Amino acid sequence: MKDPLFKDTDLVLSVSGVDKSFDGFKAINDLSFYLGEGELRTVIGPNGAGKSTFMDLITARSRPDCGEIVFHKSDGHDIDLTKVRDHHISRLGIARKFQNPTVYSSHSVYDNLLLSLEQSRGVIQSLFYKESQFDRDKIHEVLKTIRLEDKKNILAGSLSHGQKQWLEIGMLLAQSPKIMLVDEPAAGMSDEETDRTGELLLSLEGKHSIIVIEHDMEFVRQIARRITVLHQGSVLKEGAFDSVKNDPEVIEVYLGRQGRKH
Ligand code: ADP
Ligand code: MG
Repeated sequence: MKDPLFKDTDLVLSVSGVDKSFDGFKAINDLSFYLGEGELRTVIGPNGAGKSTFMDLITARSRPDCGEIVFHKSDGHDIDLTKVRDHHISRLGIARKFQNPTVYSSHSVYDNLLLSLEQSRGVIQSLFYKESQFDRDKIHEVLKTIRLEDKKNILAGSLSHGQKQWLEIGMLLAQSPKIMLVDEPAAGMSDEETDRTGELLLSLEGKHSIIVIEHDMEFVRQIARRITVLHQGSVLKEGAFDSVKNDPEVIEVYLGRQGRKH
C-alpha cells in the first residue's frame, strides 16, 4: 500500500479513524497516522496528548473503540493489529522499547542480546537451542551498531544509564523488527549520550521503520525527518522540523509550555 501523502513511499503501518476512550474521556480522537517503510518518525506532544496510548494501540496492549490499525507486511499481506494478541506482536516484527531500560542486570551484555534473539524464536525452541554462527554474527553486528563491542563481556547491571538504553535498543534489533517503537530514549541521558543516541537512531533509518516519542527538542532537531505533533489524541500538525517548530498552534499547545515543564 502507498502513502496517501507521499505517493512513492510504501507504507508499513496505517492507522485511520481510531478512537480510544477511558471512562468517557477520549484519549485518542479520530487519529490517522501513516508510517512509511524504513521511515524514522518523531512524535511529540504535550503530556496527556495520547502518545503512550497510541503505542499501546499499535502493540495490541489496548484495543481501539473504532478505526483501523493495519500492519502492511513486506510480503504484501495486511495484518489487522486490532485483532492480534499482544504476545504475538513481537513475533510479527513489531518491537517496543519502554522508557526505562529493562535489561537483565546479572547477565553480560552479550548474553542479554542472545536471550533476546532466542526469545524471538519462542520459549520451547530456546530451551533446546544452541547458539549458531548465525547468532554470533547477528550479535556482533548489533554490538557494533550500538557501539558496545568493548563491553560485551561485562554485566549489563554495571553499564551507565545511556549504555543500558543502547543495549535495550540492541535487544530489539536482535529480533530484526520491521517496526520499532521507542519511547523517550534520551530521557536522563548526558548531552554526549543523547547525541550518540541520535546517531544510533539515524543509522537505523532505512533498515527499520521507527517511531520515536521524544520531548527534548534539541534531540528532536538532531533526528528530525517527518515530525508528528499529537494533541488531544489527534494529529495537530505533521511536517519537517522548522515548519512544526514555527507553527503558531504547535507553539501554543506545546512548545510554549516547554519552559515551564523542564
Ligand atoms: P502521553 O503519553 O501523551 O502523555 P497518554 O497516552 O499516557 O498521554 O494519556 C492520554 C490521556 O489518556 C491522559 O489524559 C491519560 O490520563 C488518559 N489515560 C491513559 N491511559 C489510561 C487508562 N488506562 N485509564 C484511564 N485514563 C487513561
Ligand atoms: Mg506517555
